[in-house]
Formats: sequence, C-alpha cells, structure tokens
Amino acid sequence: MLSERAGKIKPSPTLAMDAKAKAMKASGIDIVNFGVGEPDFDTPENIKEAAIKAIREGFTKYTPVGGIDPLKDAIIEKFKKDNNLDYTRDEIIVSCGAKHSLYNIAQALYGKGDEVIIPSPYWVSYPDQVILNDAIPVFIKTNEKDNFMLKPDVFESHITKKTKAIILNSPSNPTGVTYDKKTLEGIAEIAIKHNLYVISDEIYEKLTYDGFTHISIASLSKDIKQRTLIVNGLSKSYAMTGWRIGYTAGTKDIIKAMTNIQSQSTSNPTSIAQKAAVEALRGPQDFINTMLAEFDKRRKFLVTELNAISGISCLTPTGAFYAFPNTSKLYGRHTDGNKISSSSDLAIYFLEKANVALVHGEAFGNDDYIRLSYATSIDNIKKGLDRIREAVSRLT
Ligand code: PMP
Ligand code: GLU
Repeated sequence: MLSERAGKIKPSPTLAMDAKAKAMKASGIDIVNFGVGEPDFDTPENIKEAAIKAIREGFTKYTPVGGIDPLKDAIIEKFKKDNNLDYTRDEIIVSCGAKHSLYNIAQALYGKGDEVIIPSPYWVSYPDQVILNDAIPVFIKTNEKDNFMLKPDVFESHITKKTKAIILNSPSNPTGVTYDKKTLEGIAEIAIKHNLYVISDEIYEKLTYDGFTHISIASLSKDIKQRTLIVNGLSKSYAMTGWRIGYTAGTKDIIKAMTNIQSQSTSNPTSIAQKAAVEALRGPQDFINTMLAEFDKRRKFLVTELNAISGISCLTPTGAFYAFPNTSKLYGRHTDGNKISSSSDLAIYFLEKANVALVHGEAFGNDDYIRLSYATSIDNIKKGLDRIREAVSRLT
C-alpha cells in the first residue's frame, strides 16, 4: 500500500508531455515538440571539456554535500556581478537541479498546515512540492491585463496567520513576464510587514528581451534579503538540463537545514557536473548572448504568427522561452462531433490530429491558455505553426 502522500501528487505534466511526444516520435510519427522547456542548444564545448578533465583526473568521488568550494565561490561571484548581492559560502548550497533546490527549501521550511502563496499561472512543480510537505498551496490568480504580475495589494489580501511564504518566479515560466522594480518593491514591503519568506526562482534570469533586465527581489534591501531564498541553476542559461546543477542562496540557518536534508537524501550533486558548473560560471559567457539572440528571433516570429490565427491571442513575453497564448475563444468549437471544452482537450487535439506537442494551460493553473516552448528551431516553429493554423481552421 502506497503512502497517503504519494497519492496526493501527479507526475510533472511538462515532463509527461515531453515523454509522450518523444514516444510518438520514436514510433515514427513526425512530431513538432513545443512541449518541454529545454534549450535545443548543445552544452558549450569548454564546459564539456571541464567535465572530461574532471573524469580523467579522477574527480569522481563524494564531494562536500552542499557543493565544492570553487563552485560556491563561482556562485558567490555571480551574485556579486549580476545582482550586487553579497553571500558567504555558508549561505550557499548546490543541489541536483533547481527543482531539487526548491524541494529542499520545501522540506526545510514548510510544516503541516502552513500556507504557501503561489501566484498563478505557476510552474508545475510548485504546488506539488508544497503538498508533498503537508503544507497548503494558496493560489492567487494573476491576469493578462496586468501582464500576469501579482499586485502587492492582492498579495496582502490573501495573507492569513498561517501564511509562511510566497513563491515568485521572474522571468516566469509559463507566462514569460519579467517583474518590474516597483512591483517587486511592493511585494517585498508586504513580505517584510507580515514576516514571510520569499522563495525567488530566478532560473531564467539571463533570458530577457526588449531591454527588460532581471531584478532579484533580494537586492532591494537588507531586510528583504534576510527573508529571501534565491533559487537559480545552470539548466537554462548554459543548456545544461541533464547535468543537474541548481543552487540556493539564503540565510545560514536555512542553508544549514537544507544541507542536512540533502546529506540524508541525495548527498552531493555529481562531482564532475560541479566541475563543469565552475567552468560554466567562470569561463567565457558569449554562448548566452548567441542563444538569446536566436531565442529572440523565434519569440518575435512565434508571437506574431500566433496572433495572426483567428481565435488565438498572445502577449509578448519579455523573458524565458515560452509563449502563453489565450485559446479560450476556441473552446466550444467541434472536431469530428467532439467538443473542445478545455486547454487539455485542445492540447490533445493538436497532438493527435496535428502532431504538435504543447502543454495545456490548466497544468499551470489557467485553463484559458496553452504553453509553447520556443526552445526549438525556427524551421520546427514554422512547421508547427502551419499545423496549428490548419488544425484550428478545421474546427467547426
Ligand atoms: N524553475 C522553473 C521555473 C523551471 O522552469 C525549471 C525547469 N525545469 C526549474 C525550476 C528546474 O530546473 P532544473 O531542475 O533543471 O534546474
Ligand atoms: N522546466 C521545464 C518545463 O517547464 C522542464 C520540465 C520540468 O522540469 O518539469 O518544461
């Protein structure tokens, strides 16, 4: 008999969709995959070489649980350079991907009955990680007309005696919104006033467009830094999804608790991936700009073309690599006598009848939308758009 806990959660819908698309592809079906959020670029050569060197030198044993000192130092340098934030080694922990960092935080902070505020649309793993730790996700709907940004007064109106933390994600997966300074200041003020923790997932920090720049909420004041846990990682910026390196910066007591939890669960992140991560953070950074320029081209093309399809409208994302179009006008239309009533129906229709994989908005907390990752080639995007356009025109 499985635990009650295991019955309360579902597999990650983004990974599930990716697995389904890959299985269809393996069976010979020509799928266009807008499903998973994973750069289609290869990990840069200098990073791979650092890992190969580590293997050759026999750096293949256990390391300190929370990461090797050179990696912690490279992360500390990154925070200083990019965010003007000062941390010490005992305020940093390296984990097996940012998802693992977030999970360690959930284990270290949330208790039975604690409420954790999650603005929706949200990234798929936030609610399930809260639930896995016996806490309660409290969703606050954000709206397209506000650029999907949480308004500070709305945030405050959802705080109760049980509220422990808020999870922020800017640039956001799935909406692509990049929070502005004024909104972050408003959120910080309320978090301080109500003594809440802020978990700030900044994994898309380097991927911003149209002159938008990422601002870390922790950089706004000493007070907010004290109650913020910054989560970041190498998966997106350095095309290193499979290497599994993420990290957290926060106060010593929480980092120590997370390190204890990690020491009893996974131990250290892979030794050779840590060496590769040092090279990623300290080596040449031009790869990011090359990748970003390509993402930017795809973003503009995808968003323009989606908006040209009758029944679909899409805000222009300013960060990450997702488009999050509103498809609610298509609900109520029919295909072969079946009604499309939800984002899930629509995603299944596109997958089965148009060979296009994407993720239903309901997985991110808003059924009016679907999510397309544009971390795929422009040719694929063109092909996928042709199929979507044609499939939409077939709906009656
Ligand atoms: N946060 C967000 C918002 C993400 O989109 C992802 C993507 N997987 C992660 C965290 C986790 O990334 P990883 O575990 O690969 O570091
Ligand atoms: N973050 C990516 C996504 O949203 C990867 C999938 C996952 O980790 O769930 O598609």
